[in-house]
Amino acid sequence: MKVLVLGSGQLARMMALAGAPLNIEVLAYDVGTGHVVHPLTQQVMLKGLNTAITYANVITAEFEHIPHDILDACEASGKLLPTTTAIKAGGDRRLEKKLLDRAEVANAKYQLINNRDDLERAIETVGIPMVLKSALGGYDGKGQWRLKSSQDIEPAWQEIETFLTATPDQAIVAEEFVPFDREVSLIGARGKDGSIAIYPLTENIHCNGVLGLSVAQEENQALQDQAESMFRALAGSLNYVGVLAIEFFEVEGKLLVNEIAPRVHNSGHWTQQGAETCQFENHLRAVCGMPLGSMALIRPTAMVNILGEDSLAEAVMTLPQCHLHWYGKEKRPGRKMGHINVCASSSAELKTTLTELAGYLDPAAFPALNQ
Ligand code: ATP
Ligand code: MG
Repeated sequence: MKVLVLGSGQLARMMALAGAPLNIEVLAYDVGTGHVVHPLTQQVMLKGLNTAITYANVITAEFEHIPHDILDACEASGKLLPTTTAIKAGGDRRLEKKLLDRAEVANAKYQLINNRDDLERAIETVGIPMVLKSALGGYDGKGQWRLKSSQDIEPAWQEIETFLTATPDQAIVAEEFVPFDREVSLIGARGKDGSIAIYPLTENIHCNGVLGLSVAQEENQALQDQAESMFRALAGSLNYVGVLAIEFFEVEGKLLVNEIAPRVHNSGHWTQQGAETCQFENHLRAVCGMPLGSMALIRPTAMVNILGEDSLAEAVMTLPQCHLHWYGKEKRPGRKMGHINVCASSSAELKTTLTELAGYLDPAAFPALNQ
């Protein structure tokens, strides 16, 4: 099988690594250059989207902010999974909110904003504190404003007005600020035959809007059931094929959907060492029409993101249950450069190992480990 991934970052790279043992060849389409590259070496393999579409048996995506003409060309080939509807919903908060409402899954109260009058309406209906998010192009907490009190309205609006004028078709989704107890995510896959397999929930710690630490959750059946029923509603309503991630806010034991990602997800990287079959393999299995692999947790596992660092103390590699994954990317401040999966035989041991690991890392670069 030959799978073309739209996007040539770390997610395509990890799909390539997971696909090799199954004889699945993964190529990556670099949306910026228009070249088809090897996901590990970035070496150019083919030129042009049409050549790649013809070469591939299946086309999928590693991110949702893909120009619509590219998505449409892929969809027209009949090889794209998940469909453009799902990918576009993941890349446009307006479509995403409609999808959540249509599937009747709980989500934060919101109002669309295109102009100043809409903002006034949002202040009345959604209220302050409020989070304002760009409809298009947001990731890692970028393209967001917070209104904590009425004093924040004017300065935020000045920035937002400039922002809206600069980008055609851009809009803002104003959301109530959710006083969450914690953030969790659910990752699952739906096969071509409609079969569904779901990993245990993951607890996520964000710092400055970026994921720092994910910990696979073992024993909250009530919460898992809530999340799974929302997963089934969303995946079913999209006739989804592939891995789908859902981010939630947990408020007093109830889940509200924050957003969806129609792809493998950073909060699922722990599955490489902590689950029977990792999310990358399961995504490939789903889009290639193969049976899904078991998503069972095999041991307590956490994932620590490496942000803006391209080397770590060698001592990290002496910890017997720590697994280092570099992405081969050029160093830039705050950039996702790699991750460390940390495994243990019990939750208590996992905590101890994370503390030991933190001792070898620069606390400023790993704030999520020091909370
Ligand atoms: P990513 O791509 O990393 O998932 P993103 O840019 O798509 O992030 P969100 O997930 O919507 O953006 O927001 C980033 C973080 O901001 C959330 O994980 C959460 O911590 C916080 N946040 C977002 N929306 C709200 C809200 N309505 N109330 C409270 N906190 C929020
Ligand atoms: Mg998010």
